[in-house]
Amino acid sequence: MDYTKGIGWHDPRVAPYGPLELDPSAMVFHYAQETFEGLKAYKAVDGSIQLFRVRDNLKRLNISNDRVCIPQIDEKMMFEAIKTLIEVDKDWIPSAPGTSLYVRPFVIATDPYLGVRPAGTYKFMVILSPVGAYYKEGLNPTKIYVEDKYVRAVPGGIGFAKTGGNYAASLKAQVEANEKGYSQVLWLDGKERKYIEEVGTSNAFFKIEGKVYTAPLEGSILSGITRDSAIRLMKDWGYEVIEQRMTIQELKDLYEEGKLEEAFATGTAAVISPIGTLGWNGEDMVINESRIGALSQKLYDAITSIQYGKDEDKFDWVTKI
Ligand code: PMP
Repeated sequence: MDYTKGIGWHDPRVAPYGPLELDPSAMVFHYAQETFEGLKAYKAVDGSIQLFRVRDNLKRLNISNDRVCIPQIDEKMMFEAIKTLIEVDKDWIPSAPGTSLYVRPFVIATDPYLGVRPAGTYKFMVILSPVGAYYKEGLNPTKIYVEDKYVRAVPGGIGFAKTGGNYAASLKAQVEANEKGYSQVLWLDGKERKYIEEVGTSNAFFKIEGKVYTAPLEGSILSGITRDSAIRLMKDWGYEVIEQRMTIQELKDLYEEGKLEEAFATGTAAVISPIGTLGWNGEDMVINESRIGALSQKLYDAITSIQYGKDEDKFDWVTKI
């Protein structure tokens, strides 16, 4: 679907997957005016196809659009686009345990213009890709590097938006963490470089003496949909979930006092990713003996059971196609 200033969004269509023809001076190539989302469609146990929290993803796309001056898109129209495409491609949806169809809606600025201003023309597109099971055999804890040299987001910046610049800014830290033997980065705040924010493409949680802590949504982290699902489930189970700033030093002190019981990250790709090791200041904190904790496993089981239609959808998270 295209956008033209003065006309609005127009010409929704299904087209075969293939290269796009864009002018080399299309603004997205130079000024990164673009946004995207990521969600999954699941083949449910009853054979139906269901999307998980699609409306929340589409709402979030418009929040990102607003931040980078991309015109709002009717959320019903975006949903219809996704539904239509999935119907066209439904034979590509895998059904083996843990598999799904990844749905990537995105928007790019297409104006051929060299100069910094919001574009006058855009394309909204949706591409689909079957994805294998994230975990082949059980959830394996990750080794995460606490980043204190580079920052990902600053107050007033674009950290809460799903826009390419955030990910480009994270690559160097990711590569350096990989070279040190860690799989991902835990970001600290961009101002004081001490408050825990989020992991590369997921939100971080820490269970401390029975209570669960996570960073608040203050503009520099992504409002993760899995984060919200985990919070709602944990509250429903009677856990106290505290959205509060915590410094890495505070976490280290709690770890040394033996109070850090479990750590995990939440995101669409892995759902729940247990954090086994946190490397900071040249030392490793090994959490729960690098074993998956009971709460991480319970959350993973509960969320995936809803996604695959094995459990009642009591929060109204699922949309059947
Ligand atoms: N933070 C960032 C920076 C991300 O890219 C993602 C993945 N979308 C998340 C958190 C987790 O969000 P969600 O649970 O909606 O996938």
